[in-house]
Amino acid sequence: MGDGGDWWRRARSWPLWQLPAPAVAYVLTVETAAVALAAAVATAAPIGTEDLLAFAVLAACSVVHLQASRRIERVRRVTTGGPQVDLTSIWLVAAVCCLPPLLVLGMVVLTRGQRWLAFDRPAHRNWFSAAAITLSACAASGVLLVAGHRPPPMTDVPGSLAELAVLAAASIVYWVAQVLLVGGAIGLTTTRPRLVDLVGDLELNAIDVATVCLGVLVSIALTHAPLVILFGVPVAVVLHRAILVRQFENDARQDAKTGLANTVHWRQVARKELAVAGRRNEGVGLLIIDLDHFKNLNDRYGHLAGDDVLRAVADALRAEVPDFDFVARFGGEEFSILVPGVHSQTSLLHTGDRIRRTLERLTVAITADEGDPAVVGVTASVGAALFPDHAVNLDDLLRTADTALYAAKRGGRNRTCLAGQLDVRPA
Ligand code: GH3
Ligand code: MG
Ligand code: MG
Repeated sequence: MGDGGDWWRRARSWPLWQLPAPAVAYVLTVETAAVALAAAVATAAPIGTEDLLAFAVLAACSVVHLQASRRIERVRRVTTGGPQVDLTSIWLVAAVCCLPPLLVLGMVVLTRGQRWLAFDRPAHRNWFSAAAITLSACAASGVLLVAGHRPPPMTDVPGSLAELAVLAAASIVYWVAQVLLVGGAIGLTTTRPRLVDLVGDLELNAIDVATVCLGVLVSIALTHAPLVILFGVPVAVVLHRAILVRQFENDARQDAKTGLANTVHWRQVARKELAVAGRRNEGVGLLIIDLDHFKNLNDRYGHLAGDDVLRAVADALRAEVPDFDFVARFGGEEFSILVPGVHSQTSLLHTGDRIRRTLERLTVAITADEGDPAVVGVTASVGAALFPDHAVNLDDLLRTADTALYAAKRGGRNRTCLAGQLDVRPA
């Protein structure tokens, strides 16, 4: 009885319950569906000796791969959020293609179990990724069962186009199910996410598809000559490393706190944009946004609360501007936005002021250093300058926008000021 009470108290403190209600409902639904589907397909096909042998070889390879890539994975996990490539899919897809469902589930437990032991993550995230993988694997196994696919006995290779098409269909179902299930969870726990935040960029999906393809190749090798798949292990480890390089490249362009572009990357892109616009005779606007009296907010509520506000401002800016406008955290509590295709100074001034008004309406729930919750607002001053009207190179354009920003500050803050204009735009 005492144990039951303890368990109940622990369960009530799970971080899962801190997610928004729709996200909790989604996570629990996915997990229940995974358990139900796993129970339904577990006995869908009998397990033979050859299946057990194939499972043993796959399991051994997955253990070697996952243990050899532990260090890589540790670095990968601290660098970025969002959808991630999951290289364990090589072994899972291979299992789906050539093992009965019960052994596929065994493979899910084995690969997820190793990750759980190696990395400290909130339990609900572990359970959710295991459930999402189980559902994807069951869906792909379902395609094979419906198509009447039976893994050929060893020494036979699937040769016919129809067989390969069935394997391709199952792999696509596995990949798409993963993307949708994980994207759903990210969508329900992120404020105003963009499509790329939900499903990852093209490169990430290309790597995902390559991983799944490797899984199919491994399954074919497995049915032909099981030990051949040992050659797949170094390929998996090296692919793992390659992902890390891609991630470092991404991180080098990003501001870690807000996920916006950092100054170095922003400058590179801005220089190119100005060069292109110069050739095409087009205008490019520059907005520099500086939060007003941000030091006071830090002093009053603490730096952590200040960081929450910076993140909320970054999210609001990202959501406010179209994808082709380029937002960066310029440093401290300053942001810069490049606005290509601007035709007139008036239109740039209006864009700047629309963004200022959006920030003025923003409210952020924070927890002060003393632990008291509060809802705070911010205002910002905006300096605007237009290429080529105000300057013809980036450094001069930045200087001009900065001067306009200081005019907005001097004019009383919470306003937008265009370069070269004596009058600041009243708030
Ligand atoms: P003004 O209206 O003149 O811009 O006043 P201000 O207080 O915003 O400007 P000031 O330049 O005096 O101070 C900027 C403040 O921004 C000081 C610093 O503590 C805060 N800040 C800079 N970077 C960060 C950060 O990463 N996190 C937090 N929480 N605060 C930061
Ligand atoms: Mg500043
Ligand atoms: Mg400021």
